[in-house]
Amino acid sequence: MKTTCPDSARASLSSKSDEPIAVLAARAACALEGSIETLVVNSEQNLGHLERQAAQDVRELLRQTMQRGAQAKADATPPVCRVCGQKLTRVSDGHERTFESLFGTITLKRSRGYCKRCRKWRVPADAALGLEETAGYSPAVQDMAALLASKMPIEEASAVMEHLTGVKLPRATLDREARRQGERARKVRHQLDQEAAIQKQQLELTLEPYQMIIQLDAWNIRERDDWGQSKALRRQGKEPQRWHWVYTGTCFRLDHRGQTAGGRPVISQRGFVATRSGIEALRQQLHAEALRRGLGQAAGALIIADGALWIWRLADDRWPQARQRLDFYHAVQHLAAVGRALFGEDQAKLTAWLKPLVRELKNQSCLKVIRQLEEVLAAMPEGPAARAVAKEVGYFQEHKHRMDYKAGRRAGEPIGSGPVEATCRQTQCRFKRPGQFWSTSGDEALMCLETFWRNGRWHILFPHASFDPARN
Ligand SMILES: [Zn+2]
Repeated sequence: MKTTCPDSARASLSSKSDEPIAVLAARAACALEGSIETLVVNSEQNLGHLERQAAQDVRELLRQTMQRGAQAKADATPPVCRVCGQKLTRVSDGHERTFESLFGTITLKRSRGYCKRCRKWRVPADAALGLEETAGYSPAVQDMAALLASKMPIEEASAVMEHLTGVKLPRATLDREARRQGERARKVRHQLDQEAAIQKQQLELTLEPYQMIIQLDAWNIRERDDWGQSKALRRQGKEPQRWHWVYTGTCFRLDHRGQTAGGRPVISQRGFVATRSGIEALRQQLHAEALRRGLGQAAGALIIADGALWIWRLADDRWPQARQRLDFYHAVQHLAAVGRALFGEDQAKLTAWLKPLVRELKNQSCLKVIRQLEEVLAAMPEGPAARAVAKEVGYFQEHKHRMDYKAGRRAGEPIGSGPVEATCRQTQCRFKRPGQFWSTSGDEALMCLETFWRNGRWHILFPHASFDPARN
């Protein structure tokens, strides 16, 4: 059937803004009918062409809907300070603001007033609309900028955004917006972490029979805070620092760990922390995350990590009641180091020696293994090989109370820090690409966004967003 559109609806799409939405909708409907016809008569077009064109046909209708919605909401917002609730004084109307939305540029007029209590000028409509902390983007565009920038390099993010949504955000602008959202996320995280600690103190928590597993790790990131100042720094006798630690942690309830049909271990719910702001920041963030995940009610806690000294210091200090376990695979690596000192490159001999020891370490007592290592050492002549073995024996003695693998396996607990290492790897995919440099504040902001996403808290930053990656 051939469709005919009334002349009034056929007029140009970029029409006057005072037209009723119904008229704009009728006009969009005509354009859509036309696009369907175009699809049918053009043999080189497939449904993808209509998908694109239809979105274009309704774009102006949607833009004007947004614009009117924004204006109506701004007009309905009372002149009250959103921070302290005080009525604003010296209120004046008609302050124009332009921003980009998913459907194009939007301009609105808002009231501005002075809050005597905060001693600040306020535009309550901006807060009501979600436009307060942005360089000029609607909440949906802020959301996309934040997500894409935390998932991929900026130049790629800019191209992907334009391809998927039609919204053009040049690299530098996208970068700035994402960082701004990241800074906002840091403030929100700080507040959430404080609330978690306070809540724990207030609640009379009953213990439940689950264990909380906490795993920690660290990796290097390349930053250019002192970029271009290397010579000047060296003149002052300082070596410019390029590589910095990213501290990472994960926590989950043992009863949230299960298996896929194929037998692969999976964790249904877990918390994730990554920070560039040092060990103290990790300590606070990971503790708050563990509290949110139920540490306060756990019958016990277990820390699993590699042999790094900072980790065990932090564990003793922050979670003194928790049991500690050295990652099994790190222990095996140290056994292998003894093997290499004994057999050099003779792989067959090394394997034959190593295998039974690994089995003993896993299924029996680590003390038995240590005794054998001590015997090996006692039989060795003085020299570099003996020194290497002595070092490893020292390592096992230092960590022997963290090597209860047999009991751990019997209790169904993990003996390796696989989950936190997988977490590190995933984060590195984004933050440690070849040739990439970061600045401390920049990568902390983006990393913070990443933790909101992975912990299923994106909706706290962007209340319109209902998608939860933690549940998908
Ligand atoms: Zn105020």
